[in-house]
Amino acid sequence: MDKILTNVNRAERLRKSTQTQYDLIVIGGGITGAGIALDATLRGIKTLLIEKKDFASGTSSKSTKLIHGGLRYLKQFEFGIVRETGLERAVAHNNIPHLVHPEKMLLPIVKKGSFSKWSASLAISVYDRLAAVREKDRKKVLSRSEALESEPILNPQLLKSAIAYSEYRTDDARLTIETIKAACREGAEAFNYLELDSFLYHNEKIVGVKCLDHTTKGFLLFKCTQVVSAAGPWVDKLRDIDGSKKGDTLHLTKGVHIVVPHEKLPVKSAVYFDAFDSRMLFAIPRGKITYIGTSDTNFTKDMNRILCTKKDAQYIIDKVNRMFEMPDLKLEDIISTWAGLRPLISAEGKSNSELSRKDEIFESPSNLISIAGGKLTGFRKMAERVVDLIIEKNDTFPEKESLTKKYKIHSDSFVNYEAYQSLKSSLTEKYKSRGISSYDVWYLLTTFGKHAISIIENALLSDLPLEQALMQEEIQYSIKFESSLEPDDYFNRRSGRIYFDIASVKNNLDFILSQFKDAFSWDQEKLTASKAACQSLIDDVSVIKD
Ligand code: FAD
Repeated sequence: MDKILTNVNRAERLRKSTQTQYDLIVIGGGITGAGIALDATLRGIKTLLIEKKDFASGTSSKSTKLIHGGLRYLKQFEFGIVRETGLERAVAHNNIPHLVHPEKMLLPIVKKGSFSKWSASLAISVYDRLAAVREKDRKKVLSRSEALESEPILNPQLLKSAIAYSEYRTDDARLTIETIKAACREGAEAFNYLELDSFLYHNEKIVGVKCLDHTTKGFLLFKCTQVVSAAGPWVDKLRDIDGSKKGDTLHLTKGVHIVVPHEKLPVKSAVYFDAFDSRMLFAIPRGKITYIGTSDTNFTKDMNRILCTKKDAQYIIDKVNRMFEMPDLKLEDIISTWAGLRPLISAEGKSNSELSRKDEIFESPSNLISIAGGKLTGFRKMAERVVDLIIEKNDTFPEKESLTKKYKIHSDSFVNYEAYQSLKSSLTEKYKSRGISSYDVWYLLTTFGKHAISIIENALLSDLPLEQALMQEEIQYSIKFESSLEPDDYFNRRSGRIYFDIASVKNNLDFILSQFKDAFSWDQEKLTASKAACQSLIDDVSVIKD
């Protein structure tokens, strides 16, 4: 069972890990930690990754899910970030084609908006050039009537023209999990539900970590040469534990997204639109739904329960109702939400949206290296920088260059995007007479890659109703090969169903729970507690609180 990400034999794997001398321990199973674990392992560095809850349960499942250069950062003259993340888009698309999809964006130019046609056109030309966008995908300026033809629900009273340009869309949690799976395939070890409690020191230098195993409530010690904290919004907490929180600190801001059925906001493609308060929002169609976000407000509350409040949701709804000409969207139309924290590096006198999205590395006297800030899109380059640094600091680590630029993250990767599209068409055709919809094929293929085929084939042999048969296969896969331990791991971060198809979770909750009960031999008490936890999570995302 080595070389896969699983909890099936967790106790034995943990025992082995406590007896291993690691080169590197990475704290935090978000995209930053995942990228570092993969880069380091590919360079021959013996790596352990630990995550206190589930992989991607922090910011890395709460983003706008775009692989983008960040057009708006041009306004802040952050050319470096735009160029780096812009160039990384094509790298991510090539390295995991079924998870990073080209997405046409529309930027409406509106009366009293942030951009004039000329400023937007110039900015996007710079953007396209910085990101080396191919000629055929470069921006197009649309007249008012062309813009209305391409997006008929835009408010004609406001619209002056529009610019069409290219970005990529992903699933942040799946990208994180696939990256951790790849690190494990290359020899890393990774555990979720294992929380750093404190550091172990020798001569005032960190030589290991003490962790709380949330599955047993016991403490375990792990030894290593180097620790990297990729704890996202929690980076300062860990610097505090190490007694090294000095200089720049994190400033946390909350960003929310709301989800409505696609027919309530039937955008044909993603729209990047003005909020008329110096912010810009995205409305992004995805399967059965459209999601819209995001806000940017200061956050100082409980970091483990971040909610979209009525005020957050109303802010987004008001902006939608101004930009689109449709029957007004209402709070009651919202079927799901998510809210995440941006770990920004604080700077006096700057507003939230002006704070840099650049990543920053902190080095402590005890040899703790922490990385925070940055973007999902830039994760590979961030990882490369961190691993370069730890190699420089540790003479015993192999001196190898990063190998991730041309590394296929999925074990059974599509050679390119055309291969993904071609399989999607042939599977849709093959299974349509057997009750598998084109949505099912698209969802399974974009979520699980080519493994979608065995999920479908096995489900078609089952006596269960088709929806449950498919879910059963997904759940079993997520338990055996993706370390799911709780139903929420599956319906949230392995499948995204809680956001993009919440009805399927609500309607099948008992079935999902029964799958976990059987797989992990839960007793009645554990089943009851898990059901209550799931209901409370579903309530948190779907019932908007004050
Ligand atoms: P996290 O994902 O938060 O991971 C840190 C992990 O550390 C967490 O899982 C946490 O549980 C774990 N941890 C904390 N303490 C401990 C401990 N003691 N022991 C063990 N584990 C611990 N970027 C883009 O490129 N595109 C976008 O569209 C985009 N949209 C965004 C929208 C919003 C609203 C927000 C908030 C951010 C967005 N970003 C986007 C930025 C991007 O999401 C983040 O840069 C990225 O997800 C940060 O990942 P991370 O791994 O650093 O942090």
